[in-house]
Amino acid sequence: MSLKVIALGSGVCANMCLPGPRRFPPGFLVDVDGKLLLLDVSEGIRFRLEDAGYDYGKIGHVAVTHVHPDHADLSPFLQAKLCRNLWCQTEEGTDKLSVYMHEISIKGFEDTWRWRHPEAGEKLNHFPDKFKFELQPIRGGWEKEIFKGLILKAFGVYHGFGQHPALGFRVEVGGQSIVYTGDTGLTESLFSNVEKADLLIADCSARIGQEYTGGYGHMGPGQCGMLAYRSQVKELWLTHYVGFDTPAAMEAEARKSGFAGTVKVVTDGMTWTGKK
Ligand SMILES: [Zn+2]
Ligand SMILES: [Zn+2]
Repeated sequence: MSLKVIALGSGVCANMCLPGPRRFPPGFLVDVDGKLLLLDVSEGIRFRLEDAGYDYGKIGHVAVTHVHPDHADLSPFLQAKLCRNLWCQTEEGTDKLSVYMHEISIKGFEDTWRWRHPEAGEKLNHFPDKFKFELQPIRGGWEKEIFKGLILKAFGVYHGFGQHPALGFRVEVGGQSIVYTGDTGLTESLFSNVEKADLLIADCSARIGQEYTGGYGHMGPGQCGMLAYRSQVKELWLTHYVGFDTPAAMEAEARKSGFAGTVKVVTDGMTWTGKK
């Protein structure tokens, strides 16, 4: 089995705050023997998929952590998939997409899609013979084998003052596990769902010295490290950071808990390869 995770976006909702390499907003591609799952769909993700050597048309599954625009710019992605099928030759797998999203968030998205495609009327899929997407309502505790051998699990997290339905995802495939926290403060749900992950992709938006569990709901490097240590994670990815702290300082902070596994301050294009 070939298993890869590619960071398509390690950045945040703004850029040009600080000098440094360009980092796009979140998106992580899980590739299992060419079967593709995209975790978060931020602006321009199709170009980054293309740059990484993938056809965005062949993304069959998208899981959305929460609806902030830096994670869920779903409409342009659906429009691109639709138009690709209208104008280009439809290939196997390009004509459908399953989107997994919190059940509370789905209604708002349907309204947004209709606002953007008034010609479709009440229908969500207005060229169903060319491209058909389905919005699958999920919540914490939901799980499904979305394609053979890959189980996607959702768990509730805390974000946006708790007003935002927000999820983290655990992917289990071939005896290996990948956890993506989405945006979240440190929650009890993280400890149980991150348990013994081979790869933990953690929201590290809070800077050193400004970590907190209440309030808005992001983690800092010390909290990510503690989570990785307590949950016995093998590799920790610190993502979704602005860049105020140096990578060396972030890693040192993450290790204060005693975490001795691999720590990476992620930049775009970074790839994790699972066991064969
Ligand atoms: Zn957010
Ligand atoms: Zn975010």
